[in-house]
Amino acid sequence: MRSVPSSAVLPVVPRPGREERLSSWLNRLALFYAMPVASFLEYCSLNGVDIAALEWRLGDDEAIALATRIGMTVDELRMMTFQEIARHARPMIYRGGGNSCPVCPPDLRRKTAAFPWNFWCVEHNVRLIARDGENLVMKLPETTLTSLDVNAHQGAMRLAAWAQGKDTAAPSVPQHLDFLTTRYRRPRSPSFESPLPQSTPPWPRYAFLLVVPEYDRVAPAFDRPVRAGVSSLTRGSLLQKYALTVALGRIATDPVGHVASVLLASDYDGEEWLHQTLQTWPLELLNRIYARLYRLRAARRNAAEREVSSWAAWKEHKSQNPDSPSLKIVRRESQNHARSRRPSH
Ligand SMILES: [Zn+2]
Repeated sequence: MRSVPSSAVLPVVPRPGREERLSSWLNRLALFYAMPVASFLEYCSLNGVDIAALEWRLGDDEAIALATRIGMTVDELRMMTFQEIARHARPMIYRGGGNSCPVCPPDLRRKTAAFPWNFWCVEHNVRLIARDGENLVMKLPETTLTSLDVNAHQGAMRLAAWAQGKDTAAPSVPQHLDFLTTRYRRPRSPSFESPLPQSTPPWPRYAFLLVVPEYDRVAPAFDRPVRAGVSSLTRGSLLQKYALTVALGRIATDPVGHVASVLLASDYDGEEWLHQTLQTWPLELLNRIYARLYRLRAARRNAAEREVSSWAAWKEHKSQNPDSPSLKIVRRESQNHARSRRPSH
């Protein structure tokens, strides 16, 4: 330890990076002075302090001691902590490195990369990569991503405001995510629609899969389970978090259209599950959702009736030639298709 007066400011202090985390910057300062982190903190009168804990609980005494030694204001130091993140959102923030930017120096970690709803580097505006190397560009075509990004930004803004306790819109972020992570139908077996083995467990059909069909088309089986509500963003792949953020952006922009479409596609059980999550939504919004659902169902019923009557007219017209092979094929297909709507047929 160098013999420096206890109140001396460090002679050279590199500026922190944009949005750099306090733990990242203190680590880099210690490296700059070629000191172990513990010794550096001791030098800053922070004996035995856990560097990772500082960015969550930077006490007044600790902040003043650091500010004095480093030559920054207490407010500047607090900007590098997660103090603005409300208690309800803290479990969602990555404690470790979070996602990473392929351009940033590997030892520089930014606050924004610790938020599971953020997918871009704040400095370089490139897509972040998950710690396991997962990259969104590997999963979805760039053109698809570009159009999804608009909704991802909308969802991220809502989540960021909610995390800071500043989101007052209704339905709230948790209400939206509760709906999106609820199943709209009983599970489907993947064996009908994919080459996966028969032993693969049935895929749960969450509402957000209808809101973001782009994800549903490419999500691998292991990425199918989702936690309920806001907890969904604490687990899962980078792709799944991106899809949930996109879904939030979309449903918050058009709740009537998306909720009515999900309800239209639901089965008996799914509609019950979805109803339960909607109970706390604003009544005026629910009225508009169910008015839209009523119109969608009426349109579907009319379309089905038109299909049935046109089939009956065609059958009548062709009845003079019942042995036509093409008629036999068409009749069989149409009977199968119409069975659910015409049980007497
Ligand atoms: Zn970067």
